[in-house]
Amino acid sequence: MIRHTSAQRPRSRNHEITCQHITALILDYVTGELDPQTALAFKAHLRLCPDCIAFLSTYQKTVHAAQSLRYESIPLQMRRRVRQFLRKRIKGSPPTR
Ligand SMILES: [Zn+2]
Repeated sequence: MIRHTSAQRPRSRNHEITCQHITALILDYVTGELDPQTALAFKAHLRLCPDCIAFLSTYQKTVHAAQSLRYESIPLQMRRRVRQFLRKRIKGSPPTR
């Protein structure tokens, strides 16, 4: 996957949304925090772009799965393992000179 740096901004006209924008805005769209104008442009792009429709449906499924997973329902052992892993990551990061 090619990563675009901020120096390579996609040249876009007013309210023209690209697949990159969809990727960046999808969280706000799913949570309903997108402003109405952007949401319209977002939906307009979806109508033209099957790739982004597929991406959105996958994303919504993922969000739904994540929301239905409660912290309490995660086995204690796994929680411990996650905490240990995080601690190691924090402590074990190599010192920078
Ligand atoms: Zn697209």
